[in-house]
Amino acid sequence: MFNSLLLLVSIDVKSILAVLFWGNLAAFFLIISYQYTGAKFLQSQKPAQNYILAKLFQAAAHFFLLSGNSLPDILSVNLGNSLLLTGFYMEALALLRIAQNRDQKLYAALKAVFITGLALFNSVELFWPDSSIRVAAPFVCIFFILMPPGIKLLAYARTGGFKQTIGIFYLFFALLLLPRAVLAFSGNSGALIHTFILSLTLVSLVMLMIFGLSAYLLLMKELAHKEIAQLAVTDSLTGLSNRKSFLDAAEAVFERHKTNKTSLTVLFMDIDHFKQINDTHGHSFGDEVLVKLGATIRNTLRGGDLSCRYGGEEFLILLPNTNLENFKVVTQRIRKSIAIAAFERKPGFSFTVSIGVMSGIPVVEDTPAFYLEKADEALYHAKNTGRDKVVEYQADLVDWESPRQSRGDSQSTKQYSGAGDTGRR
Ligand code: GH3
Ligand code: MG
Ligand code: MG
Repeated sequence: MFNSLLLLVSIDVKSILAVLFWGNLAAFFLIISYQYTGAKFLQSQKPAQNYILAKLFQAAAHFFLLSGNSLPDILSVNLGNSLLLTGFYMEALALLRIAQNRDQKLYAALKAVFITGLALFNSVELFWPDSSIRVAAPFVCIFFILMPPGIKLLAYARTGGFKQTIGIFYLFFALLLLPRAVLAFSGNSGALIHTFILSLTLVSLVMLMIFGLSAYLLLMKELAHKEIAQLAVTDSLTGLSNRKSFLDAAEAVFERHKTNKTSLTVLFMDIDHFKQINDTHGHSFGDEVLVKLGATIRNTLRGGDLSCRYGGEEFLILLPNTNLENFKVVTQRIRKSIAIAAFERKPGFSFTVSIGVMSGIPVVEDTPAFYLEKADEALYHAKNTGRDKVVEYQADLVDWESPRQSRGDSQSTKQYSGAGDTGRR
């Protein structure tokens, strides 16, 4: 039994360094081929670029460390360890980016640790080659380099579970490198302890390589899924929600308002004479107008408001907790922003929109589709009576319990702003 345990810790250093060289090299080729033949979108992703370099640096590092006796110290020790630190720095950068860290101070701290470590190690190595600091420095540096991404992943509350597990693993194996640094200072420890700690260090490096690669691939997959999920709910031109995700979200808002018996408002917005804008200024300028309107809508709404590009040059807005009285603040704000919207390509250009409004406290059988239909009717009225105006659909507010048909039939509309021309839609 004791002998078996001894075998477990008496690991041959050179073999492990060779494993680390081949392992990192294989990881480098695996990721390169994945990125150039499969997941092409990764080519432009910074974490992917960092991780590929990390693997290359780490493979090269272990090559020089392995060639210890046959190369001068400056190559095997200085260059080997400098490449190792650079490799782990790149890996830490990739991890921080995957964890979507926006805290620039963390990047700066990581860089400071890396540069200090590199300078410290190399100066000690050159001036006091027999010092214990020389042995301890690379391991302490790797620990401190892996700490920021480890802690960031651990504290990544938004995604929970998986990222936190990765954070814990990184911190754990980085921590296991520290005994090697301690050992360097405690001169005459027993042979068994020495072998054990050395083995622990090498096993940790192997684990960091195997675990790190698996974690990286899984995290990138998760990132790709997120991107695809985001694309599925977004209108690619304006960046607003698309029709489906808007209607899904609107369902939930309607249910909430039915329960709370509070008022909500749907705005149906359509750019006036958009075909003419396209015909006169070109389709690509038409697209610019759509993008500008999308941005205007996004910047005008409150946090809980929903908006989407419904199709073509039509946009929908859902204002929760908003009634016939206070939706006007929103429409006025939007129309004001549109009126002053500037276009670099065509300085004098301006455009207008027509808006149909349906507002009320939704009853049990009400759906977003019903409100949308009524807002569309009001919009139709706005188009037919001059455009560049807001028209609200006036339902029969007296009898909320009446069947849908009677509310729908008693159509009337009220316009409160705008200038005239003859309508067509
Ligand atoms: P009205 O004032 O009555 O709304 O007239 P309109 O010209 O805005 O409406 P119409 O429905 O006649 O024309 C809509 C135009 O929008 C026609 C279509 O080519 C254009 N369109 C739809 N989608 C896009 C797009 O993504 N980009 C651009 N540039 N144009 C688009
Ligand atoms: Mg239009
Ligand atoms: Mg239209």
